Amino acid sequence: MIILLLGAPGAGKGTQAKLLEERFSLHHLAPGDILRDEIKKGTPLGRQAKINMDQGHLVPNELIVDIMLNHIRDAENVILDGFPRNIGQAEALDRFLSEHGRQLDYVIRISVSESEIIRRLSGRRVCPKCGSSYNVVFNPPKVDGICDKDGEQLVQRKDDHEETIRNRFEVFNEQTKPLVEYYSDHGNFITIDGERDHMVIFEELAKLIAGRK
Ligand code: AMP
Repeated sequence: MIILLLGAPGAGKGTQAKLLEERFSLHHLAPGDILRDEIKKGTPLGRQAKINMDQGHLVPNELIVDIMLNHIRDAENVILDGFPRNIGQAEALDRFLSEHGRQLDYVIRISVSESEIIRRLSGRRVCPKCGSSYNVVFNPPKVDGICDKDGEQLVQRKDDHEETIRNRFEVFNEQTKPLVEYYSDHGNFITIDGERDHMVIFEELAKLIAGRK
């Protein structure tokens, strides 16, 4: 099974992907997480990616496409969170899938307004160890600034500062939004309202996927 999540930064793709990963034993593939890990390790890829990421721009396709396709090749059940992010990546993914006789089971678009995105991203805090995501306003951890799962000190992502958030939203509008059109005639393309409680959204998605499995 391959599920693709589409949506602006902060739409809740990562949150839903983590919940679905646990419920359905899917392999959660998030290029943002992979790149942040490369940055932490100080690899050449990490160093190059950091320049783009810190400004809220996309990392060039030639740096990300092969890595993502290799990960997909190695996994049977996958949830894609943040790939593809432009038409070139979507075309590369399509070619890969048809060469391997595979297909996308669901393309799920999580729709959230720009004002809500900005509110969410500026309040977002993440655990640098396990990747859990919180929000200081509407999903705070039990103890202020501390991850519920592993007690690690939460941090604000460098690209969650206001100026970079605006850049990321622009990049989304220009490069990623056209994917809605690209995938809209896909048989299992679904748009869901991402402004509801994250557990309500999760149960809706879980029901959909369980019906299919
Ligand atoms: P995310 O964690 O999904 O918000 O991604 C953080 C950053 O990683 C993005 O702003 C981009 O700089 C980079 N990135 C993530 N996914 C991709 C992708 N599919 N293509 C290019 N850059 C990406």
